[in-house]
Amino acid sequence: MEQVDKKRLKEQYVVEEMIKLYCRKNHRAGYMEAVRSGEKMCPECLHIAEYSKMRSEKCPFMEQKTFCANCKVHCYKPDMREKIRTVMRFSGPRMLWHHPCLAIWHFICTVKSGTETSKNVQKWDNKNKGKGKIL
Ligand SMILES: [Zn+2]
Repeated sequence: MEQVDKKRLKEQYVVEEMIKLYCRKNHRAGYMEAVRSGEKMCPECLHIAEYSKMRSEKCPFMEQKTFCANCKVHCYKPDMREKIRTVMRFSGPRMLWHHPCLAIWHFICTVKSGTETSKNVQKWDNKNKGKGKIL
């Protein structure tokens, strides 16, 4: 598999995990119902997940960029961008407990985005500076 495809799959996986976590905590009733009927998350969140997957598949910058939410070329529709950012803000810090490796990867990617976690990220970043590849 090409390196860029691996990156794409990884990003899609991380984003889906984050949306799932967001849904489970914020749309409890809808989430439970979705799970019962064999879905991964509520219809609204599923829509966000599918949208971001579609964007990621079409993304021509996959090779250069680190993470869709952090991309300078905002290819998301404004309303979808708002939604995905809400998800990221909620799930980003929480991912540390659920999926430490993924979360660290995500934190590194959002180092310069100025989120509320950026201080912690910078600390981590300084400590690990020059250690080469992430993950
Ligand atoms: Zn949901």
